[in-house]
Amino acid sequence: MEDNLLNVDQLSVFFRTRTEPVRAVNGVSFSVAPGETVALVGESGCGKSVTALALTRLVAKPGYVAGGNIRFAGRDVLAMDPAQLRQMRGAEIAYIFQEPATSLNPVFRVGWQIAEALKLHRAGIAVRAEVISLLNRVGLPDPERRLNAYPHELSGGMQQRVMIAMALACRPRMLVADEPTTALDVTIQAQILDLLVRLQEELGMAILLITHNLGLVAGVARRVNVMYAGRIVERGPVEQILGQSAHPYTRGLMAAVPRLSGGKTRMIGIPGAVPNPARLPTGCPFHPRCPKAQALCRQEDPIETIITEDHRVRCHFWK
Ligand code: SF4
Repeated sequence: MEDNLLNVDQLSVFFRTRTEPVRAVNGVSFSVAPGETVALVGESGCGKSVTALALTRLVAKPGYVAGGNIRFAGRDVLAMDPAQLRQMRGAEIAYIFQEPATSLNPVFRVGWQIAEALKLHRAGIAVRAEVISLLNRVGLPDPERRLNAYPHELSGGMQQRVMIAMALACRPRMLVADEPTTALDVTIQAQILDLLVRLQEELGMAILLITHNLGLVAGVARRVNVMYAGRIVERGPVEQILGQSAHPYTRGLMAAVPRLSGGKTRMIGIPGAVPNPARLPTGCPFHPRCPKAQALCRQEDPIETIITEDHRVRCHFWK
């Protein structure tokens, strides 16, 4: 499987507490091939963002990687020294986050912030010309003028374009986009997603798209991993996950996606909330919210079942 750019195998990330460690991510495995878009989907608190941060060992204390392996471009990330990690962050794996306004430094002009990344990782480059070229590439209008703007002078969509330009500055091999459109209005969301797809085609980089919105992954991701309570509960090619989802949680996420067609249909939410990882229910962690739960679900945690070669599910009653 070293043909993959990223291989995550049985990754566990725990948080130390005075008593038992909290299992935020518990035995997660997935891979991303070069140039591929893979989605991690689930509600807030299911472990997606902690998984994403663990890829470059950015989980802050009291969090720690409790087990598993992460290999990026054939290298063992968990064995890297601080210099190797610094080189990988930004230059090989770059991030964009949900709230561009909080990720950008409010006291520096946006051009200066992009230039910093360039100076750090691409010494000798004509910085101003490259900043303008990056802002052009992400579709920011009038880049020569806008590079002198402070973040508060730009709209949310423009700020996210600046964040994407900053992420692209070092030509990463993989972009981790953590809820990149959540803070934006619907029209701008579509523009940012189109931009990511276009940039991926142009630059050939891989994307790990993290979102709570299963509707967002259609037309963007090739494979989808659905996470719940720190584990992947269903994974497979996007068409199978969207068209033949097998896990009741995946179906719940699908039902919660707003639709434009089909007349007046009510959007159905999933009852209850994601469980506290410090107090996971017995058996299948989804059982208190699951419309198909039976006695077995309260007692036994389901193992992963192979539906087709690529499509897997963790549910006793997926059929
Ligand atoms: Fe629902 Fe049971 Fe399947 Fe869990 S194992 S998802 S509770 S049917």
